[in-house]
Amino acid sequence: MIPGIEDQTLTTPRITILATGGTIAGSAGSALGRGYRAGQIGIDEMVAAAGELGLVAALSGEEIAAVGSQDIGWREWQALYHAIERAFADPAVDGVIVTHGTDTAEETAWLLDLTLPAGKPVVLVGAMRPADAVGSDGMRNFANAVRVAGDPAAHGRGVLVVMGDAVFAASDVRKAATSNIDAFKGFPRGPLALVSPASLDWFAPAAKVGQGARFAWPGVLPRVEIVYAHADMDAAPVESALAMGARGVVLAGLGQGNASAPVLDALEGAVTKGVPVVRASRVDEGYVDRNVEVDDDARGFVAARSFNPQKARVLLQLLIASGVSDPAAMQAAFDRR
Ligand code: ASP
Repeated sequence: MIPGIEDQTLTTPRITILATGGTIAGSAGSALGRGYRAGQIGIDEMVAAAGELGLVAALSGEEIAAVGSQDIGWREWQALYHAIERAFADPAVDGVIVTHGTDTAEETAWLLDLTLPAGKPVVLVGAMRPADAVGSDGMRNFANAVRVAGDPAAHGRGVLVVMGDAVFAASDVRKAATSNIDAFKGFPRGPLALVSPASLDWFAPAAKVGQGARFAWPGVLPRVEIVYAHADMDAAPVESALAMGARGVVLAGLGQGNASAPVLDALEGAVTKGVPVVRASRVDEGYVDRNVEVDDDARGFVAARSFNPQKARVLLQLLIASGVSDPAAMQAAFDRR
């Protein structure tokens, strides 16, 4: 090699793109972006468009699904998980990008984070505006995701979500706005890094280097229902969740995970029947701690701590699937980040 000239094969990250659909692959058919359809742009088209940006990365694509993320579920999650497993085992892959709708990105990211070892970078990316809408954010976000997935310093951080110019941990991230471009927030931490196609600034070293998966990939995900609390509420929603065969219940509670007396009593009744109950909050941000206003010790509940109801649901599903039933062991899982 000529001194001073870098060998591109040594420096160009090789990134596998796993496409699932969403607005990042969405087409509006008009610049106004009304009535658009998610998941219209194929992965080959997206990789070709990204190629024209001059990104320093070798991209290859695989289509897992072409759906809005409101339709993501067990089938797509299994396909994604196994595709990422293959990418982890392939020495010719340096990082993985999952293109995904934004509506349930936090659930997919968290499920993968809990079930994959913290190895090569895995980056979920989406967009708030379809490719042909005014001010589309898809290619910008995608270029940012390539920058993150290709960075050796992204190793050992668990699953990441890139939206706008921010990089979030799967455990922290949530969608917090319906249509703003700046729709994602982190709690309790904000972004782990800020990114642009030209720069990437991590605020702390990778914390999970060498960590294995917290949970084995489940054979099946048990039914866990979220019961949304409101004023003037009786026990019927809890009873119908149990009648539907829920193996666990997450309360999207008032304030610090609270609910009316009949609801709390019905939830306590669920616990006595062996159905675990996790108290989360319908409030956008904040901790739900044990025994603050609700007596978790007496009622046998688990407090969701920093996790919102949809993330608490995923964690509770994995706990049940792996045979954990002791409330103290469940609480320890919710205390850990
Ligand atoms: N409904 C779309 C989805 O989640 C919205 C988006 O991608 O922003 O797939």
